[in-house]
Amino acid sequence: MHGPPATRRDALALLSALVLLPGAARAGHREQQADHFLFGSPVRLRVRLPPGEPATPALEATMAGLAQIHRRWNAWKPGELSRLNEAFRAGRALRVAPDLQAVLRSAARLERDAFGLFNPGIGGAVGAWGFHDDVMRPGARPGTRTLAAWRAAAPSLAQLEMRGDTVSSRNPRLQLDLGGYAKGVAIDRALDRLAAQGLGEALVDLGGNLAAMSRPGEPGWHIGIRDPQGPGLVASLVTAGREAVVTSGSYERFRLLDGERCTHILDPLTLAPATGLVSVTVLHASAAHADAAATALLVAGPDRWRRVAEGLGVSRVMVIDRHERVELSAAMAARLRWGSEAWRRRSRVA
Ligand code: ADP
Ligand code: MG
Repeated sequence: MHGPPATRRDALALLSALVLLPGAARAGHREQQADHFLFGSPVRLRVRLPPGEPATPALEATMAGLAQIHRRWNAWKPGELSRLNEAFRAGRALRVAPDLQAVLRSAARLERDAFGLFNPGIGGAVGAWGFHDDVMRPGARPGTRTLAAWRAAAPSLAQLEMRGDTVSSRNPRLQLDLGGYAKGVAIDRALDRLAAQGLGEALVDLGGNLAAMSRPGEPGWHIGIRDPQGPGLVASLVTAGREAVVTSGSYERFRLLDGERCTHILDPLTLAPATGLVSVTVLHASAAHADAAATALLVAGPDRWRRVAEGLGVSRVMVIDRHERVELSAAMAARLRWGSEAWRRRSRVA
């Protein structure tokens, strides 16, 4: 199954790993959408509405909410997260907003359940690799001594100390980077916000991280999973109820360092860029959970992804390796339609 030829309107969505395909229209309903650019990615909100009032104010408020998270929780621009990182470096406690406290608590649980392969405390090393930048410039790898120092410090969210509304850590090298999680949190919230305004049929696309909802009995949203190395689709699926589809790829954000392609996702144990898998797609009720899981499974690689998926309680997973071999869980296979016969043949239910 292939999508329609790219029109100008679709061009934005085609930049991401997942694309929205035309789906069943709901009788008597129309669609409205809003576009923006946030978290270094195109963002699109889409809602299905009954005839009558447009949903413009709700879409604008939702987009503003996404922009606010982007500003507050950026790892390398001034904001709430960089202030907290500064406090850790100085050994001070800092008062933190309740929603960030909740995000840190859930991220700490996910780190533990992912056997440490998802670790939003390794921001220092992510910065040392040069990923705290809007532009991915070529350059040199960080020095071995620099990386050894970050490894020896072993930052982990288990070292967060939360008392009342303040947060501190005894590890000055604990440096938060929510790059692998905040987008998922943000799109979950965007759906909550739309639902609270009566928009129960909506889709949020944040750079290939999709969260969708549809009312019981109404058609879901038709989503394509892009070929990581070329045009066309690996597969497609239709969302049911409230669901998120999140893809982590090593092919979209990387730097050429000493002539080698280095992805922005690091193995927290070695602090080297993840190798082995090119893309991981997770289908789950919570986008935040799926986002953390996709990052962890990309690090886990071909031999460990199943065990880590089990630890994280994600049952619908598809992974693609460098040789375009696809492995997927039975629960994921039950939901997919292959983009071509060639992809089906390259797949193995594991
Ligand atoms: P994308 O942002 O492309 O959707 P991810 O969700 O996998 O991809 O997030 C990658 C980002 O997460 C990196 O840019 C970095 O900020 C951060 N990060 C890198 N390695 C890890 C890791 N092992 N655990 C948690 N966060 C990570
Ligand atoms: Mg992620």
